[in-house]
Amino acid sequence: MGMLERAEAIGKQKPRVPAVRPRAKGERTVCKRRATRETREVTTPPLPQLRETIARTVAEAAPALIALSHDIHSRPELAWNERYAAERTAALLESNGFRLERAVADTPTAFVATSGSGSVTVAFLAEYDALPGIGHGCGHNVIAATGVGAGLALAAVADDLDVTVQVIGTPAEESGGGKIRMLEAGVFDAIAAAFMAHPGREEIAGTVSLGLTDLAVTFHGRESHASAAPEHGRNAADAATITQVAIGLLRQHLRPGQQVHGIVENGGVAPNIVPGETVLHYYLRARTAEALDDLTERVLACFEAGAVGTGCTFSIEEVSARYDALEPDAQLVELYRDELAGVGRSAVPVSREHELPLGSTDMGNLSRVVPSIHPVVAIDTDAYTHQPAFAAASALPGADRAITDAAVALAGTAAAALADPDIRARLVAQLAARTPVA
Ligand SMILES: [Zn+2]
Ligand SMILES: [Zn+2]
Repeated sequence: MGMLERAEAIGKQKPRVPAVRPRAKGERTVCKRRATRETREVTTPPLPQLRETIARTVAEAAPALIALSHDIHSRPELAWNERYAAERTAALLESNGFRLERAVADTPTAFVATSGSGSVTVAFLAEYDALPGIGHGCGHNVIAATGVGAGLALAAVADDLDVTVQVIGTPAEESGGGKIRMLEAGVFDAIAAAFMAHPGREEIAGTVSLGLTDLAVTFHGRESHASAAPEHGRNAADAATITQVAIGLLRQHLRPGQQVHGIVENGGVAPNIVPGETVLHYYLRARTAEALDDLTERVLACFEAGAVGTGCTFSIEEVSARYDALEPDAQLVELYRDELAGVGRSAVPVSREHELPLGSTDMGNLSRVVPSIHPVVAIDTDAYTHQPAFAAASALPGADRAITDAAVALAGTAAAALADPDIRARLVAQLAARTPVA
């Protein structure tokens, strides 16, 4: 069943009305739902009580969550090929009562796990792809375990909050953009808010990221004997060299926040053959779409310079879809800050958040559509992401603690948002505004 049909089917299910019990002090009415003959009020227990259940659920699940994290960590898989990690994550949710839909969006390593049947649906996201050569140097094993932990915890209070909880497995964050594909396929159509936490060096609540354009340029020259007939060759590697020099010189004149970095993927095959084809793979980044467009235009001119100067031609491929800069939901970020304090952590001040851009993430695209947060949870390491030392730290006790703390804080944030009538109403209204009325 596709997402839309599923959402419809859930919508058609008879609402499960919890037993009415005396209203305790501090309880708030979340909403009124119509049962067959009468109208009953669904009351929400006070937040401290919900938090207690959330913390207890995560504590009970901790051994399984940490085992999941370590398992994924020990078997790193690259973007789109996270078969072990996706199945291991999905299976843990399934064994805890979640309903599983595997291979969503025609993607074998994407899944949606659902628990409860409340009137509002929120999602926790699980990334699990690794990096070529350095394994889980971005610690996505921590993201997966945190997402599962938060999902289990919110599921434990789902009826109290009249919420449907999903944990969504989102492959290919490091390259490819799994969330973008899933967004286009409608996987997030019914989601009122989305939550995930990424491991890092520092604790950041309102993470920002840069927009990213992923380009490969291929220079086409002409092979020839490098000694016997060099005048008959056109050197594609020279085109790459001119491009690298031009980009290097361009750097002085970039705007703050604009970044360019790349690698040579194919620099030729043998010293005695004039390289007939060379590939450069570049990431272009900037804070805004406009600044990214500006940068793209200037870098394309550098590609052209390389080709013109060497008599080569060139072709450009956009390798991954463009990643948008993160736009975290300010109200949800503030709630997260409070929940973080509850687990004994404090995030860097807001003024420092913009000094610590995360790089780029496909969560940026999702955050433009679905109110979202993407905090960074510190894993007690001096290493930076994409360093081998960070990969090692991602399975140490500091990372294990980050999983349970962040799971509690994320689930607590969702609970606080859903228990607050104003925030809940806003999330519902935003969802209604973007979903076509049937
Ligand atoms: Zn990364
Ligand atoms: Zn990452």
